[in-house]
This record gives sequence, C-alpha cells and structure tokens, in this order.
Amino acid sequence: MQLAANPHDRTGVRRKDEQWLDARWADPRSRVLLVSGTRIRPAEGKLEWLSTADAPDGVRVLLGEQDGTTYFAVVVDPAQAPGEKAEWFGLRGILPHLAGDGVADAPLVFHAIGLAEWLYATRFCPRCGGSLEPRAAGHELVCTSCGKTQFPRTDPAVIMVVTSGEPGSEDERCLLGRQSVWPEGRYSTLAGFCEPGETLEDAVRREVAEEVGVRVGRVDYFGNQPWPLPAA
Ligand SMILES: [Zn+2]
Repeated sequence: MQLAANPHDRTGVRRKDEQWLDARWADPRSRVLLVSGTRIRPAEGKLEWLSTADAPDGVRVLLGEQDGTTYFAVVVDPAQAPGEKAEWFGLRGILPHLAGDGVADAPLVFHAIGLAEWLYATRFCPRCGGSLEPRAAGHELVCTSCGKTQFPRTDPAVIMVVTSGEPGSEDERCLLGRQSVWPEGRYSTLAGFCEPGETLEDAVRREVAEEVGVRVGRVDYFGNQPWPLPAA
C-alpha cells in the first residue's frame, strides 16, 4: 500500500476556530469515524463513516477536508462503545479494509488512529502529573494544573536496503533479516527508530551495526512516507 497517496487537507488553521468547527459539525454532509479507544469497527467489510447526528459524545477530532467533505473522528472510551468488543479492530486488523476501494480512506484512518493512540497513551501531564484536556480539535492536550501543552508524538524511523557489489552486476547482493518468531521463509529489509539529535543517515548506520554487526558506508536517501503503526 502506498501510504502517502491521496492525503486530505488537514485544515490545521481551523483547529481553534470554534465557529467554523461548529458550522462544519452542523453540516449533514460531514462525516465521522468512531474510534473506541484506539480501535475502529468496520461494517459489512467496509469502513463506516457516520453522520455527525449519529455520532456519540466523545473527544471530537478534526481530521480535515477532502473533495468538499469535512471529516471528523470521535474517540470514545471502550466501555461506552456500541456493539461487542470483538467487532472493533486495531490498525493491523483494519489494513485489509484499506486495500482496493478503501485506499482513499487510508490517510484519514491513519490520522484518526494515530491521534487516538496518542490520546490513549497520554493520560497525565509529564511535567507535573496534572490532568489533561484536549484542545485544538484533538491535536493538543493542555495541563489543567501547570498549563503546559502536549503535542502528538511522532516516531521518525528509517527502513533501509543495504547492498554490496557493483550495482547491476552479478556480484550485487542485498542484506535481509528475519525475526525468529516469523514464519519460515519470511525476510525483511532492516529498519529502526531514530534517536534524538541523530540524522537519518546516522540512524541507518547505527541500526544496521546494532542489528547485524555490518558497517555501512555511503547512505543514499530515497524518499519518505507516513508510517501509521505506533512505536508501542
Ligand atoms: Zn502540568
């Protein structure tokens, strides 16, 4: 799946515009993705987008606009979510629903679940332990005691193909790894998370050295894309 395809307009400048948010919420064409904790519930094999009138109370998150429609997510406590717990899926369980026709929804769903994961994991102010309130249409958490603002956490990561030998020659090889718990025959390129104050290129060299003990020389940058799965 091309994770960077078909991005929505995140309308970041509107997140604190309460009048605009109320008007978009009141529009019957606006659509809502219901998130229980960090999980969503497909209906009849497809993602279900509700009207705002059908959405329950919860943390209201503005995802943005696409093709003239405004998209929200509402994050509810799993104890308040409708239906059976088994009907709700985490991101890995939802990925099959985002293939084919569902691919257009993928960036909206990644945005919604990414924020829901952060809201779920960030319960108290990391500076003073005070309680937090959502602001900016779900994109900030403000401490009710010390006033410090928390912003969504992102985890930059690198994925790399390490090669040796002349490109295109018979000697060219690439290095793959596997985890012992994986099914037989499954291999992957290496990957890892960047550390604070580290360039992407240095993260590639460090991770390869740590994981397989190979020293990497030149590192060429290829491109970037969002990665929706949380670091956990
Ligand atoms: Zn605080």
